[in-house]
Amino acid sequence: MAFHGEVAVVTGSSRGIGRAVAELFAAEGARVVVNYRCDQDGAEQVVRGIVASGGEAIAVRADVAEPEDVERLFKEALAAYGTVDVLVNNAGILEPKPFLELTKQDILTTFETNFVGVALCAQQAARIMLERGRGRIVNIASVSGLDNFGTAGNMPYAASKAAVLNFTGVLAKALAPHVLVNAVAPGFVETGMGHSPEYEAVVTAVPLGRLVQPREVAEACLFLASAKAGATTGETIVMDAGFRLR
Ligand code: NAP
Repeated sequence: MAFHGEVAVVTGSSRGIGRAVAELFAAEGARVVVNYRCDQDGAEQVVRGIVASGGEAIAVRADVAEPEDVERLFKEALAAYGTVDVLVNNAGILEPKPFLELTKQDILTTFETNFVGVALCAQQAARIMLERGRGRIVNIASVSGLDNFGTAGNMPYAASKAAVLNFTGVLAKALAPHVLVNAVAPGFVETGMGHSPEYEAVVTAVPLGRLVQPREVAEACLFLASAKAGATTGETIVMDAGFRLR
């Protein structure tokens, strides 16, 4: 078990990609902090599943966009497990809306969770990791944050993910050499996020003709947090089933 005894905080792990990440790290021996904002039942179900499989996990409610919540999330991680080795910044929201109808609050709401939340969690994790002289941070971005791959109905989302990708590189420089910071940029993943007629049409048109599975994104996170990726920092793994090739 590659992560035996290590501690992983996975934001937004009550369902979807975060859930797959939490379950995979737990299966590899990590003690996992399952974070959620609203879905307590989902988070507790994830914890129960991990414990039933012989792993260790706790659920902590915290809105990643709220500094006090984020501070408490990491305090609870330290209280339960004594340290944090890995942070997977996964929590994110997608609220499609035509550009001309967007309000300032729509844009801020998306940025608060998708970018500010990533920065606040990374800051708390970095304090712990720099003191210990080791740590890994993996940010879940999106292929929509690369170049012009966002869609007209998701402009704040794409811009927030572009910010995450830029932040990943800058933070990797700031925290080197002991803390490594990388990103995964998925295309269309089989979760509840973003389902719409437009989404279905794009999915069938990607070269691989299928959705990316949450487990595949989790495997990329596991790799980036592992010793195998010890020379990799400031990098992005794109997992888009060929979406960018169209
Ligand atoms: P999802 O199924 O909608 O799950 C989102 C998770 O984030 C939930 O656990 C939710 O918890 C949590 N969350 C949302 N806002 C939060 C906040 N402010 N504080 C704490 N937790 C919060 O989404 P997903 O598809 O798994 O996506 C996960 C990540 O992958 C996101 O960053 C997303 O942008 C990215 N991504 C997804 C796709 C895709 O096609 N699905 C593609 C590219 C990138 P509660 O329900 O408890 O609030």
